[in-house]
Amino acid sequence: MANDTLFDKILRKEIPSEAVYEDEHVYAFADINPQAPVHVLVIPKARNESFADLKDADAAETGRFMQGVSRVAEHLGLEENGYRVVFNTGRDALQSVQYLHAHILGGRKLKWPPG
Ligand code: AMP
Repeated sequence: MANDTLFDKILRKEIPSEAVYEDEHVYAFADINPQAPVHVLVIPKARNESFADLKDADAAETGRFMQGVSRVAEHLGLEENGYRVVFNTGRDALQSVQYLHAHILGGRKLKWPPG
């Protein structure tokens, strides 16, 4: 299948992942190489390759994805202390999987600016 990425396979449960949240619109799972005590990836069930695609994407689907990211952060208990949402986009940002995904990072004081 064209553009069949690791995250397509994770979403289809062909590759195992540690699920932390799932609803009609999003699937969230633990990052295999965590950069913070809490490091979760959230992917939309409506496929896009990267954040750059969202300018042309369906606005309602995009909104539901963003609401899903917010909901996952709440589900993880991160609202009180805060957290960071990261969309690595393209080569300079080291995006390694060409399937739109939000990183949610939390559980410690994060540094700014990031590297
Ligand atoms: P990015 O560099 O923004 O494309 O992020 C891809 C993320 O996917 C990295 O943080 C990886 O650690 C993570 N990752 C790669 N393979 C897996 C996997 N099988 N399960 C969970 N996370 C993964």
